[in-house]
Amino acid sequence: MSNQWIYLSGEYVDKNEAVVSVYDHGFLYGDGVFEGIRVYEGNIYKLDEHLKRLFDSAKSIMLHIPYEKEELEQIIAETVRKNKLETAYIRVVVSRGTGNLGLDPASCSNPRVVVIAEALALFPKELYERGVRLASVSSRRNRPDVLPPQVKSLNYLNNILVKMEANQAGVDEALMLNDQGYVTEGSADNIFIVKNGTIYTPPVYLGALEGITRNAIIDLAEEHGYKVKQEPFTRHDVYVADEVFLTGTAAEVIAVVEVDQRKVGDGSPGAVTNHLLSEFRKVTTTDGHQVYPSKEKAQVS
Ligand code: PMP
Repeated sequence: MSNQWIYLSGEYVDKNEAVVSVYDHGFLYGDGVFEGIRVYEGNIYKLDEHLKRLFDSAKSIMLHIPYEKEELEQIIAETVRKNKLETAYIRVVVSRGTGNLGLDPASCSNPRVVVIAEALALFPKELYERGVRLASVSSRRNRPDVLPPQVKSLNYLNNILVKMEANQAGVDEALMLNDQGYVTEGSADNIFIVKNGTIYTPPVYLGALEGITRNAIIDLAEEHGYKVKQEPFTRHDVYVADEVFLTGTAAEVIAVVEVDQRKVGDGSPGAVTNHLLSEFRKVTTTDGHQVYPSKEKAQVS
């Protein structure tokens, strides 16, 4: 027994027994969709938005999720409760299910739904204080008319390849451009730049996932009086920006202090980035779905 419960198509099973068929088309072809979600002190941050994106991704690839949104919401909350978690990371995976060796999804009759919740090792505090370094990479972001980056599919090879390029360049994250040279995003996060007090992020149609954190930061920034523009920009604009930061479920809001060996600003996290990170952290424990009724919460170890 591992003491960790995984939801696997209808039942909660021990982690060691949570296995799927090698004929699952998620395994054979990356045919499926997923979400990565965070729990902050018993609050599943923006669960509704994550579920909407999951269902939209599934619709786009004609994958039927065999639950209503509300049912899946309950399953996700129950997986967190069953594992007695307070601050955690949740992975929801819906694969096409088991079929034959051919790629035609018609052979798969039962989509598989998996929910994993585990304790989260937060990014080290030092990383937020020092910021991260980026390198632009040679692999371009998938074209939206080939494999839409807005679909959060199980096919993450585009992202994996650029992550490897970033590792080879000795930096923390990749800066991905689209086939026309416009900035799109990182391997697993959205990008923002700040110039003369205005905040810019690429429109998602250029080739980016519509990040839940991205949208939350746009809203928060506007609430705090910043002007935010969703406009195309190039690598040059990133080089000469006053501030650059990344957003994502894992990264939250993290400063970029170097891009292709050019220092961003004075080489340390900027004031706008720090402000938005602190405002973001204020809402993560309340804006979402509470897992534990307040009485029970205190009893969770
Ligand atoms: N872009 C990509 C390619 C990602 O995988 C992620 C992580 N889900 C993001 C951006 C950030 O999205 P979110 O804020 O929803 O985590």
